[in-house]
This record gives sequence, structure tokens and C-alpha cells, in this order.
Amino acid sequence: MSDCLFCKIIGGEIPGKFVYQDDELVVLQDINPQAPMHVLVIPRRHIASLNDLAAGDDALVGSMLRRAAALAKDHGYDQRGYRAVFNTNREAGQTVFHIHLHVLAGRGLTWPPG
Ligand code: 5GP
Ligand code: ZN
Repeated sequence: MSDCLFCKIIGGEIPGKFVYQDDELVVLQDINPQAPMHVLVIPRRHIASLNDLAAGDDALVGSMLRRAAALAKDHGYDQRGYRAVFNTNREAGQTVFHIHLHVLAGRGLTWPPG
């Protein structure tokens, strides 16, 4: 998608701080972190939101969640705790319409979220 921010970052058109990359996923440092660890697990392929997932994407989503757990473990937060969240559409605060899994850790995360 030529007008998508995350496609542009993945394509190298716009800079981003990559903390992990493989054939199907990248992990970016969030530009406006909301916790000591705040990264975004993003598929290379453009998918606008959770609403656009197909059955064929099940393995991809599993890889995203397992990557979130691996990142939390690498940063020492697997036992302390962390949050992995997808925001979907307006009332959840989605601002970038290329699916991304937020992974936050390093402080007490309140519940329910705002
Ligand atoms: P959303 O609100 O769609 O769930 O999350 C979008 C996230 O992308 C936000 O946490 C925001 O800080 C982050 N973000 C927005 N623009 C950029 C950017 O140019 N680079 C990076 N690395 N993150 C960004
Ligand atoms: Zn995109």
C-alpha cells in the first residue's frame, strides 16, 4: 500500500528503529513509547486491521503472538508481566491502518485500559 506509514517504514522509505526482522514480520520501536518497553510487531504484508484477517492468516497471527512472548522474555519481562494488544478502529484508538501488535512492559499497566 503506497500510502501506508508502516509499509513505507518496512520498505525503507521512512526511517524506523527495527529491533527484529524475519521473512514475514518486523518489530519496530514505537516512536512514542508508553512504557519502558513498547514495540510493535508488524507483518510485512499489508493487512488493514483485525477485521481484515482471513483463515489463511492464522499462522501469521500465531507468529506475531509468539514473537511478542519472545521479545518480552528477551527483555526480562516474561515473569514480571507485559501486555500485547491490537487496537481496532476508531473507538479503540487505531491510528495506523496496517495491523500491529503493541507489546508493552516495564511498569504496572492498569486495567481496564482507558
Ligand atoms: P495505533 O494507535 O494504530 O494502535 O498505534 C500506532 C502506533 O504507531 C502508535 O503507538 C504510534 O506511537 C506509533 N507510530 C506512529 N507513527 C510512527 C512512526 O513513524 N514510527 C514508529 N516507529 N511508530 C509510529
Ligand atoms: Zn501497510
